[in-house]
Amino acid sequence: MAAMSRPFNFAPGPAALPEPVLRQAASEMLDWNGSGVSVMEVSHRGKEFMALQAGIEADLRELLAIPANYKVLFLQGGAIGQNAIVPMNLLRGRRSADYVDTGAWATRSIAEAAHFCEVKVAASGKAGGFTSIPKQSEWRLDPEAAYVHICANETIGGVEFHWVPDTGAVPLVADMSSNILSRPIDVSRYGLIYGGAQKNIGPAGLTFVIVREDLLGGALPITPEAFNYTIQAANNSMINTPPTFAIYLAGLVFRWIREGGGLAAMAERNRAKATLLYAALDASDFYVNRVAREDRSLMNVVFHLADPALDGAFLEGARAAGLLALKGHRLVGGMRASIYNAMPIEGVQALVAYMRDFEMRHG
Ligand SMILES: *Cc1c(COP(=O)(O)O)cnc(C)c1O
Repeated sequence: MAAMSRPFNFAPGPAALPEPVLRQAASEMLDWNGSGVSVMEVSHRGKEFMALQAGIEADLRELLAIPANYKVLFLQGGAIGQNAIVPMNLLRGRRSADYVDTGAWATRSIAEAAHFCEVKVAASGKAGGFTSIPKQSEWRLDPEAAYVHICANETIGGVEFHWVPDTGAVPLVADMSSNILSRPIDVSRYGLIYGGAQKNIGPAGLTFVIVREDLLGGALPITPEAFNYTIQAANNSMINTPPTFAIYLAGLVFRWIREGGGLAAMAERNRAKATLLYAALDASDFYVNRVAREDRSLMNVVFHLADPALDGAFLEGARAAGLLALKGHRLVGGMRASIYNAMPIEGVQALVAYMRDFEMRHG
């Protein structure tokens, strides 16, 4: 029987999940693993769930080639929670931390961290409207800083780091909420990587933290135990009840990535999708992308119609054509196509065809 055709969902997060993953979750909903109940209904401390979570962590370690001296934590509270939880855990007696301001999410991280320490903004793209990533040669790094924080992909502004900053002996901390698993990365270049799952991993409710072991042990005394990396690391992220269903679904996504060829294959697909879309934008004056070419996000393609009076018609037509959630974030306006791993190239082809057609009718 032919599957019913679904629309292409360009939502920024919570975002589209791979269809085979949704189908498998649906098929196991009433009876997971022969237990007679759903995975949501079993104890997180039971043998079956503990084995499931251990396997899921192993799959993530394999996908990202996470070195043995890093802990993987499955927490809650989102990336916004981590904005506070990172300084609580990583200040380690130091007074200040360096932050690079690349847009809305980095700015938000900076504001929260300022409640815990002196924040030094090592570089900022604000003067340029956050349309590029400041070059490392312009950064002012403090060797005494507890860490250097970056947002690896600005989901709202559409700029992405395509290089890893050199922070010397100071640990590099990255918010990878919206580009984790989009390509291979060298985890050993980072002290800590964190993010919410709902962009490129699974449903909302799960927060991942990958942290180098030697950075543990120095949390502020006020740190809640649910957010204390050292305590969570020593307890398999189970000092409180973890988000079991979100972890299970993330596990299905990890398998789907592996079966699709792993992160090298994801990177190739993601580059092809983004290249297609940016080429369409560059080929026309009807559409505008303001981001510096070398810093363009491969995950979140932000663009404007040269005539914003047409925005409403563009979105209405897109929806009718089965292209969902293209409205840009209110901070930047215009449009945004989020094209995470789960977006097939066919979705981007359909979007580009719609854009050409819309331009022909309104240009
Ligand atoms: C979505 C997002 C956040 C916020 O995540 P929450 O899970 O809502 O806390 C933070 N940073 C980046 C880069 C994001 O894309």
